[in-house]
Amino acid sequence: MISDPTTDFPAFGSAQSNGAADYPGLDDWRSKPISQQPTWEDPAEFEAALAELSSAPPLVFAGEVDQLRAQLAAAARGEAFLLQGGDCAETFAGATANKISAKVKTILQMAVVLTYGASLPVVKMGRMAGQYAKPRSSDTETRDGVTLPSFRGEIVNGFDFTPESRRHDPHRMVQAYNTSAATLNLVRAFTQGGFADLRSVHAWNQGFMKNPAYSRYEEMAGQIDRAVRFMDAAGVDFSALRRTDFFTAHEALLLDYERALTRIDSRSGLPYSTSGHFLWIGERTRNLDGAHVDFLSKVRNPIGVKLGPTTRPEDALALIDRLDPEREPGRLTFITRMGAEKIREHLPAVVEAVRDSGAQPLWVTDPMHGNTVTAANGYKTRRFDDVMDEVQGFFEVHRAAGTYPGGLHVEMTGDDVAECLGGSDPIDESAFADRYETLVDPRLNHQQSLEMAFLVTEALSHRGRTA
Ligand code: PEP
Ligand code: MN
Repeated sequence: MISDPTTDFPAFGSAQSNGAADYPGLDDWRSKPISQQPTWEDPAEFEAALAELSSAPPLVFAGEVDQLRAQLAAAARGEAFLLQGGDCAETFAGATANKISAKVKTILQMAVVLTYGASLPVVKMGRMAGQYAKPRSSDTETRDGVTLPSFRGEIVNGFDFTPESRRHDPHRMVQAYNTSAATLNLVRAFTQGGFADLRSVHAWNQGFMKNPAYSRYEEMAGQIDRAVRFMDAAGVDFSALRRTDFFTAHEALLLDYERALTRIDSRSGLPYSTSGHFLWIGERTRNLDGAHVDFLSKVRNPIGVKLGPTTRPEDALALIDRLDPEREPGRLTFITRMGAEKIREHLPAVVEAVRDSGAQPLWVTDPMHGNTVTAANGYKTRRFDDVMDEVQGFFEVHRAAGTYPGGLHVEMTGDDVAECLGGSDPIDESAFADRYETLVDPRLNHQQSLEMAFLVTEALSHRGRTA
């Protein structure tokens, strides 16, 4: 994960042994309106969990976070492309070698296709190793006349519909930290230990192409194949391509958790949330005067903000002023999730206002969250065509505005689940009975994710051309 071995470590030296960082302003969020937080029952258990997190080793290092910021700055300038992918909600039971490797593998496979299509470096990032807290539209859930607290992600409570499981248990924050550490350890091993070798990633993609349903991508797959062979024949040193940077991201929803994992970087003296490299603020918690915007304005990590269809141009400008007053390259990413039907109507004014202000955030599309529908059996699902239509709309809007569509944020898994409908080897609702596994939002499966990478690549390779 560290591409520059000369980076000046160790960071967090002094603060680490003294527990959570102290820094002016880091606790200002406590006096701001805050939503989507748990109601822990036992104050002693809560304090004990925070004390444990406060003295725990950081999951990521400030040097890595700084490198990521530089790579995101390149993406914002149009010199790289960001791929963010992973579960809506990670689970503790899902942190197995097989599931983690399938997810990393799928992201790497998508990245190879996108790298070819964009002819640019792809910044790879998992919604992984920390994506455990979920915002919910209601505090409670009622089934057959029984009302219990809603499931808020495994960092807060369990999915089973019993009073014991739905209790907000502070010890789960420690379990989330430990499971994140185990996940990140394997991700680092895979991406640094040879698993990410370009030639094996390419070979996996050839497996995907064996399915006749994807024959329309044969030409592009053939081009990628020839490019890899050419590099091999020309004597390119593949040892450099055996490793890759891979960053982690999650929604910074649970501020007590983020605060307890915040450390002061001993090199710069500045606070970093060490729970992950990149943190984002969700659509439900991005209010300007709220606690989430305040806390994230105080840490040095690159941060994202989800922007839904009701975002006004002035909201985006005010968020830039609050979160990136210095207009620091790579600091701020806007992740738009407007829905396929709305993006062409709502996004242009926002993008144009930001462009005209002179700010240069990284623009990323999340084509999942604005396209959720309910299937006949009541399950949440998304149609592959709607998802792709939003991606297409995102490219069209940026092309028209002269801004750069710099990334893709998707809910996906490496497994063969059936949660989203459609794709060239189509999933229909009859498959839900056996292969619908997600606890919260529906994810693209392995095949749908790769197909999306081919389709986005087509859109990217047309990007420079005038319509
Ligand atoms: C999510 O990313 O899972 C999520 C809840 O997104 P949003 O904040 O965009 O609704
Ligand atoms: Mn989601």
